[in-house]
Amino acid sequence: MSKFNNEALVNEIKGRLSIINLVESYTSVKKTGKGYVALCPFHDDTNPSMHVDEEKGLFHCFSCGAGGDIFGFYMRYNNLSFPETLTELAKKAGVTIEERSSSVAQKSPNSVLYKINAVAAKYYRNILQESPEGKVGREYLTTRAFEPEMAKEFIFGFAPEGWDNLVKFLTKNKVPLNIAEKVGLIVKRKNTDGYYDRFRNRLIFPICNVDGKVIGFGGRRVNEEDEPKYINSPESDIYQKRKSFYGINKSKDSIRREDRAILVEGYTDFLSLYSSGIKNVVATLGTSLTREHVSILKRYTENVVVIFDSDDAGKKAAMRSLDVLLEEGLLPYVVPLPVGMDPDSFITGEGLNKFTELIENSTSWVDFWFDMTSDRQKKGIITRKQMLEEIVQLIKNLKDPVERSYRIKKAAEMLSVPESEIYSRVKTGRGQSRSPDSRPQNRYPTSEKLLLTALVKFPDLRVHLSKEPWRDFITENVIFSVLEVIVEDGISDPSSLLIRFEGNDAHEIISESLLSYPSVPDIETAEKVVHACIAKLKLSRLDEQLKVLRIEIDEAIKEKDVHLEKKLLEQYRDLSMQKRREEGRVS
Ligand SMILES: [Zn+2]
Repeated sequence: MSKFNNEALVNEIKGRLSIINLVESYTSVKKTGKGYVALCPFHDDTNPSMHVDEEKGLFHCFSCGAGGDIFGFYMRYNNLSFPETLTELAKKAGVTIEERSSSVAQKSPNSVLYKINAVAAKYYRNILQESPEGKVGREYLTTRAFEPEMAKEFIFGFAPEGWDNLVKFLTKNKVPLNIAEKVGLIVKRKNTDGYYDRFRNRLIFPICNVDGKVIGFGGRRVNEEDEPKYINSPESDIYQKRKSFYGINKSKDSIRREDRAILVEGYTDFLSLYSSGIKNVVATLGTSLTREHVSILKRYTENVVVIFDSDDAGKKAAMRSLDVLLEEGLLPYVVPLPVGMDPDSFITGEGLNKFTELIENSTSWVDFWFDMTSDRQKKGIITRKQMLEEIVQLIKNLKDPVERSYRIKKAAEMLSVPESEIYSRVKTGRGQSRSPDSRPQNRYPTSEKLLLTALVKFPDLRVHLSKEPWRDFITENVIFSVLEVIVEDGISDPSSLLIRFEGNDAHEIISESLLSYPSVPDIETAEKVVHACIAKLKLSRLDEQLKVLRIEIDEAIKEKDVHLEKKLLEQYRDLSMQKRREEGRVS
């Protein structure tokens, strides 16, 4: 895809569509003195918190942080990818894309990978539905009591027995085998030429992305002697476990509607809930929940219920997911199932009503965790001191200040210690936490954000940054990547900047920079801001380095490594001097 063709296309669409009209077709917009405000459709907004700037073509919600241009708005509202948004908005604007060769992402290198997966999914599906080799699969499915609609909706398939059924089929259909290998459908033979099928004698569950494109496959054995029970596609350019959910293409609307997502492990649990009518469900794929997963979920809801088996392994897996949810500012709910049970066996054994009841009565994770910890202490598994430490650790992870104070109070009661004792323990080390507050305005370190704002507004100031080792002192990835485009690629107009970032995070911070911050009204002020921020960031970087050195020096002393100690002390002196110089500059 050519960026420049795309850029021209984007600018043409922007020129033809008014952001006010677009936003107005989804939510109510009001004119105020300076511009327009709207009820934000991306959070539960009662007071219009979204600002829309007709002239700049941007929107930004000062409550939830959503922001961007018309593309960002449309993409987020409809959960579309950037190329899809481009196509649809082009249609609205009356711009024909076909006339511009190579202007849309059709030629993206990944499109051929999606295509091959789609061909394979169809091949497996046809075998399951009609071919004699698919009989085993059909029989297996009837034992699982899936309605035929489920098989259709989720494109179930069957990979027949034998080493090269798919290889032969792909060859016959002139599909390049090296590309089929890239998506992991087939595997290169070790000692001879050629390939063999990855999935053999297995039921096939295609894994789709949010847009419903097949990105990978899961294969479940039908013969209980085959090992392992499940085989999944390896990771590829289009399939990464850390950001893929099974079934999200089908469940996202229900999740948004019900404003709640039920998180399970693996596609068997997913399918069992979905086919029982619980459709607001998502499943991770052989990995615990990651930050990327959470940021996808957050597009649809902030309420997550985690279901897990209450045996030790299940609890541990759940704990990992829960930590990530807390770190990302969500307050999850949990449903611990009896030991040895998964959602599928629970529904089969106890019935759907019992299961829905469990979900309706789910406990907040923090409550559950408090109970569990105190239980372990009572049983003598952990000491009181350990219990205190664990609880402090948990509270540190809470992002909502109100929730935090509430928990500090509860913990103090539970442990019969003064609140101040817990409070001071929670406070130490909190500076290291990644995002100290869940409010988007405070998600990034102030100096980094201010620096970015000044540069987004006045890109000519990039010369000041390019002289500095700025890569060393910018810690936030999103800010880093936007600065890189401004400093290295010399991008100066905001819309080109927005085009570079299809992801929401960068869009939000760019729109916020452009629509807010009266603190950077003109280039003179901006220049001062840039210098001050650079100095401040350099200083905090030096502080951090000094802190690390201190620890290393202590260790060297403990190890009685005199040589290392001397070397480290020299470094420490140098850095301290540097720090004093920088401090002189700041004051
Ligand atoms: Zn909002």
